[in-house]
Amino acid sequence: MTATRVLVLNSGSSSVKYQLLDMRDSSRLAVGLVERIGEETSRLKHTPLTGGGEEREREEPIADHEAALKAVSAELTADGLGLDSPELAAIGHRVVHGGLKFTAPTVVTDEVLAEIQRLVPVAPLHNPANITGIRTAQALRPDLPQVAVFDTAFHTTMPESAARYAIDVATADQHRVRRYGFHGTSHAYVSRETAGLLGKAPEDMNVIVLHLGNGASASAVRGGRCVETSMGLTPLEGLVMGTRSGDVDPAVVFHLARVGGMSIDEVDTLLNKKSGLVGLCGDNDMREIRRRIDEGDEAAALAFDIYIHRLKKYIGAYYAVLGRVDAIAFTAGVGENAAPVREAAVAGLEELGLAVDGELNAVRSDEARLISPEYARVAVAVVPTDEELEIARQTYALVGNPS
Ligand code: AMP
Repeated sequence: MTATRVLVLNSGSSSVKYQLLDMRDSSRLAVGLVERIGEETSRLKHTPLTGGGEEREREEPIADHEAALKAVSAELTADGLGLDSPELAAIGHRVVHGGLKFTAPTVVTDEVLAEIQRLVPVAPLHNPANITGIRTAQALRPDLPQVAVFDTAFHTTMPESAARYAIDVATADQHRVRRYGFHGTSHAYVSRETAGLLGKAPEDMNVIVLHLGNGASASAVRGGRCVETSMGLTPLEGLVMGTRSGDVDPAVVFHLARVGGMSIDEVDTLLNKKSGLVGLCGDNDMREIRRRIDEGDEAAALAFDIYIHRLKKYIGAYYAVLGRVDAIAFTAGVGENAAPVREAAVAGLEELGLAVDGELNAVRSDEARLISPEYARVAVAVVPTDEELEIARQTYALVGNPS
């Protein structure tokens, strides 16, 4: 029997998201999520997408990742999609930080795991959970290839001029301080899909991708290769996000420590969890912010303006980096759904060949689509991202069993 299924696992510190795909037609067989692992109120939500099964949801204590994966395995088995099936070709894992070493998806070995472990100091929130996810999956199916697909890999093509901070080189190298970028799987997928939407090869296109979700990042992609991205050593740099500040003067940290009496951990929490839209107006959901603006709320309006101002600065900067831009693609929760954000981000940029057609922009759809008027020199597109499909494709391309 040909093994054509890939299980994609996205293991967070207290959650596991999963999708089972059949790579013959890239269809989803099942999707689900385990949340609040380690708490009394863990929750498992499982949706079979084949065989007419019903969505199932239950709350029960799930102690750790091993228990979570076992529970997922039991749900899949109940649908006839068990992880012991010979049709399963591989498990693809989202791994947040691959440093400089991992420029492509990689079959997990002991050495690979050790290197992901060595990167924990630059990704303390994410890599440990990713490692746990891989180890747990290995224990469940030791015979199966486990593939790590790195969020940073797409950005490893950035030139040194973009990847280096202008700080002492020896210190930077000693502590691996440089710009790595994140959301790479999404930027890779969306830049390629944008070329497809325009009937062009990625090699012939310069694209600015704006991944605007709760986390947000921009990238400049020349001929299919990333040349610049807005996240840096960590996912804190760059755009205004749901709860992260994005760019600030680094001296804000010294100031808050020396003058504000805050500890480094407190400043870390402030900038990562209590800043961005939530810090500015108390809400990080763009739907809620738009609703408040419609009711005349000034804090929400200012938060929106700051968000758009930063976005526009990055569009301009990446336009200059690329020299010629063929398309701008909006993606992720905000980018795919918030028409006012897309409209405001390109407003006033007609001199750069950028415009949005009001009617096209207002259309709600799950499909990739153009929202620029025909006369515009630069195509503006909405391209739904699909990181799980991209991870599954990259995994299958590496280990797919053609026999
Ligand atoms: P993501 O991280 O890609 O899942 O994006 C999540 C964010 O997308 C939410 O926090 C909202 O701000 C935003 N979002 C989702 N749906 C909508 C919508 N219909 N309109 C505006 N923003 C939305």
